[in-house]
Amino acid sequence: MGDIANQMALSLILKIKDKIIARKQKGIKTMKILVINAGSSSLKYQLINMDNHEVLAKGLCERIGIDGSNLQHTNVARDEKTKIEKPMKDHGDAIAMVIDALVDEKIGVIKSMDEIGAVGHRVVHGAEEFADSCMVTDAVMKALEKCTPLAPLHNPPNIIGIEACKKIMPNTPMVGVFDTAFHQSMPAKAFMYALPYECYEKDRIRKYGFHGTSHKYVSQKAAEVLGKKPEDLKIITCHLGNGSSISAVDGGKCVDTSMGFTPLDGVPMGTRTGSMDPAVVTYLINKGMSSKEVDSLMNKQSGVQGVSGVSSDFRDLTAAANDGNDRARLALDMFTYQVKKYIGSYAAAMGGVDAVVFTAGVGENDAATRAAIVDGLEFMGVKIDDSKNRTRGTVDISADEAAVKTLVIPTNEELMIAIDTQRLVEG
Ligand code: AMP
Repeated sequence: MGDIANQMALSLILKIKDKIIARKQKGIKTMKILVINAGSSSLKYQLINMDNHEVLAKGLCERIGIDGSNLQHTNVARDEKTKIEKPMKDHGDAIAMVIDALVDEKIGVIKSMDEIGAVGHRVVHGAEEFADSCMVTDAVMKALEKCTPLAPLHNPPNIIGIEACKKIMPNTPMVGVFDTAFHQSMPAKAFMYALPYECYEKDRIRKYGFHGTSHKYVSQKAAEVLGKKPEDLKIITCHLGNGSSISAVDGGKCVDTSMGFTPLDGVPMGTRTGSMDPAVVTYLINKGMSSKEVDSLMNKQSGVQGVSGVSSDFRDLTAAANDGNDRARLALDMFTYQVKKYIGSYAAAMGGVDAVVFTAGVGENDAATRAAIVDGLEFMGVKIDDSKNRTRGTVDISADEAAVKTLVIPTNEELMIAIDTQRLVEG
């Protein structure tokens, strides 16, 4: 960072200190953090009380910049949902509506914007620039722009969301939390592709990994559940949802992950292929498909949906497979087989494993898929108890005699963003 950037960062930190002192003088003790996840035409938010990690309010702005924009706001304590239909020309309008809803006498949960101690922003791609969450400064905004070519669809709305918040809350600290950051601890032997080295140096082509906030949250929570320090554990985290990724977490740090340069890599997903021979791409292009068509084929028409021809949703697939649909059964088998292979290979990569963790839509809810994944892993100490496997919530589903713990832990990316935001603001 140059001198000017350093001075700007220092002046921001001083402003934040002033704000913390002012909040104390006003008698505001509780740290409430607003978590923002901005998409191209949508914006999700949660306001979290950091004293008890309770969600005070949450909601979604939809159709930003399009006809029919609306805000769906929930006052969580009162379990009251409100839908407000009002034009939102951009993300600035959306943030203003969110703040209005949060401070509203009837549907709100705070008296004034001053009660928001900090804002944590989800950012999809932090490339090699960001190995941890960080306070947003002008230098950080510039570095974020540098990451945009790697996530051209996701990073621009994330950046617009931060800019809109900065305008409306100029003195509130903002923190960026990156999906890729947790994976930056991977060693080069895990993240490099065997392409000519210039591809890495010039075009930054390497494995980055995604869902990092979720892998970080559930691996930390697993250590808590097991009553051990993350540093003393080897954990394999399986985030299995519409998009799926598996990570190897050794001593609290990610050492490998299944998603790669993009979130297309790894296991088959709802509509994404997962890994396959890359020569299929050139074969299809040589046959006459455009690169855009191949991209859509691999991202939107493949995965368990493409194989089964039934659905990308595991509930529909299971119902169809149970009704005798062979392609739905094949799609499920392909998925569980690949996840099983990652668990085996990551145990080998880490020289052992203490716990396997399941999370996200499929990982948290689909007992049959969990059972199929671990079936046959008894040789490495992984065995689950059938009745515990049917329980919901944060639960240890290991069989009594299992040497390796198998846990189900509901993910909470918003809370992880808020925890990181608090750490940086108070730290
Ligand atoms: P996520 O991307 O984490 O929101 O996960 C969404 C996916 O979870 C859906 O597409 C479903 O396939 C799956 N899912 C959610 N609930 C269940 C359930 N009860 N049983 C099986 N799969 C489920």
